[in-house]
Amino acid sequence: MEYEAVIGLEIHAQLLTSSKAFCSCSTKFGAQPNMNTCPICQGMPGTLPVFNKRALEYTIKMALACNCSINGISRFARKNYYYPDLPKNYQISQYELPVSEHGWVIIETEQGPRKIGITRIHMEEDAGKLVHDERNPVSYVDYNRTGVPLIEIVSEPDMRTPEEASSYLKTLHSILVYLRICDGNMEEGSFRCDANVSVRPVGTVEFGTKTELKNMNSFKNVQKGLHYEINRHTEIVREGGRIIQETRLFDPTSGATVSMRSKEQAHDYRYFPDPDLLPLRVDEEWITEIKNGLPELPAEKKERFIKDFGIPPYDAGVLTASRELAEYFEEVVNYFNNPKLVSNWIMTEFMRVLKADESSVKDSLVKPAQLAELLRMIEDGKISGKIAKTVFDEMWATGFSPDKIVLEKGLLQVSDTSELESIISKILDDNPAEVKKYLDGKTQVVGFFVGQVMKASKGKANPGLVNKILSEQLSKLSA
Ligand code: ADP
Ligand code: ZN
Ligand code: MG
Repeated sequence: MEYEAVIGLEIHAQLLTSSKAFCSCSTKFGAQPNMNTCPICQGMPGTLPVFNKRALEYTIKMALACNCSINGISRFARKNYYYPDLPKNYQISQYELPVSEHGWVIIETEQGPRKIGITRIHMEEDAGKLVHDERNPVSYVDYNRTGVPLIEIVSEPDMRTPEEASSYLKTLHSILVYLRICDGNMEEGSFRCDANVSVRPVGTVEFGTKTELKNMNSFKNVQKGLHYEINRHTEIVREGGRIIQETRLFDPTSGATVSMRSKEQAHDYRYFPDPDLLPLRVDEEWITEIKNGLPELPAEKKERFIKDFGIPPYDAGVLTASRELAEYFEEVVNYFNNPKLVSNWIMTEFMRVLKADESSVKDSLVKPAQLAELLRMIEDGKISGKIAKTVFDEMWATGFSPDKIVLEKGLLQVSDTSELESIISKILDDNPAEVKKYLDGKTQVVGFFVGQVMKASKGKANPGLVNKILSEQLSKLSA
């Protein structure tokens, strides 16, 4: 019997508001432990939460970008549980009335685009962080993260392979970052996901029992963890065993998952409407205003790049994966209208140095106008493509214009015919054996001569001109 997997993801994304969801403490990552706290986010009795409207605005942005409907009235609920990183002993979340529901996104798969349903997007607050001392039997708690606004994006169980799950995750990550409502930093936990998975015989409609992989924080681990779980489920089911519904943890070192706890039922949390917070009312006018302010999203941008710039879908996908990179590309093309050449340079040289320096597009010392200027110098035959790479590295390091670098380093291409003629005739004089080979019909030695000219000119000879003069002089010799 053949089995197939059924996968649904719950994504948690921290919203990029400057203050927390229910108090005015800073959300900045990396502060000294417990510096970003106040009586409200420390859960002191007698304090009252005040909701941050910006968090709602950001949630609506995401909901609209994911084709969700927005509920005119939504409500905060208390999710009750005890854990030392949760000072109030309940988390403010949304339950029976979330802010948005019934959406979908399109993901790319090897078999083409697929539509994945989104069950709901609701708001909640993050918990604190426990820090376990490695040497002493002590744990510390840091409440800086307590109360940072989160959205939870719950998908329908529409994915069938770990690759689809990963593609879905990347799609949502990129939308959040495009909207500038989440920094998407997975190492710092700003974007994380719980992956639910079950298996069933191919052709059946009913779902199998699921397990949940908790707090996955890299695209690769989500794929690896799901592969492991799918194999584990399939083996158990094939041998007539039963899957226990439980929460499991993926260990990246061993590549295996281990049981963490058997899944608590939702009613264990004793959800009830939070009496300290009024229901939220969102009017149509505000929704329209937010909708009109949405930026172009990655999928639309990619389509436009293919259509308007005539670049291949692969290039368009790479360039639009980041909003900053896409905007950089468009600016360069604005100054230098050869989209394919610009795309080549960004995908190779520019992305190479970005990666090597772990730098960001906006910190780049090479501004779009300067990259355009460099490409124009190649087009005008002032420098070769090869020299341009050297110039580019210098621009990246210093921020100087290509003009200045080319002049100061004497890199201008030699297009002076008489100068090249004398270099070439000297090379032919110095290499009689190679010339003889050529005259004997071994025309491939031309490559050797070109190499020698380039060496003599330190790479600055104009290649077109070199080839022309070489063939003139060689044909004179054979005459
Ligand atoms: P729970 O109440 O256990 O949290 P939910 O019904 O809220 O379960 O679903 C949580 C996530 O699990 C959703 O993303 C959903 O698509 C997914 N899911 C639900 N049932 C299954 C299943 N049988 N197999 C795989 N994923 C599932
Ligand atoms: Zn606070
Ligand atoms: Mg759930």
